[in-house]
Amino acid sequence: MSQALVPDRTCGSCTVCCHVLEVKTLAKPAGVLCEHSTGTACGIYRDRPSACATWHCLWRKIGALPDALRPDRAGVMLSLETDPAADDPFLRARIVCRAVHTPEALERWEAIEAVAMFAREGSLPVWTAFGPTASLIYPDAEQADRPRSAIGGRVEHPLGDPLHGPEAAAWRQRLGYAPEGADRPQDR
Ligand code: SF4
Ligand code: SF4
Repeated sequence: MSQALVPDRTCGSCTVCCHVLEVKTLAKPAGVLCEHSTGTACGIYRDRPSACATWHCLWRKIGALPDALRPDRAGVMLSLETDPAADDPFLRARIVCRAVHTPEALERWEAIEAVAMFAREGSLPVWTAFGPTASLIYPDAEQADRPRSAIGGRVEHPLGDPLHGPEAAAWRQRLGYAPEGADRPQDR
């Protein structure tokens, strides 16, 4: 996925990520508006931490997402999230459509279309989330069960051959696992 920003698209008065994200260097927890936010901008813009300066939501990175999906307008924030040590392989690298203030925001057509677009594209798992509750949308539950155990390699799948199916191999590559035969990160 490209890390370049969409030309001529700016945050404007959006400060949603200043509310949603944890900023470790500021000891700012997730889900609380940063004390440096003015409500429409960063009050320490020139001196903000590099974690803030380098982070952008997917609305800033993907031109196919409509203007209506600017997070403060849509009530959802789309982002690429990673957790390289997660037991569930579908949490290691994922697209998340996170409702900011109310879960109903996930039911708006712009959010539904965006989730569907990332699912069609298919390169990463797609989740929706509100607070601590998250749902795996792509692959769906039925599709996920077999590769979930096969990708991670921790749980033998009852249908056998868990590590060598092409589906599992494709997911392992997409999620950044070492090639089969090499040491797997989860085996440390
Ligand atoms: S959520 Fe996106 S659009 Fe809003 S301030 Fe953060 S990076 Fe900018
Ligand atoms: S320091 Fe600025 S950019 Fe970073 S979270 Fe706080 S208000 Fe947002």
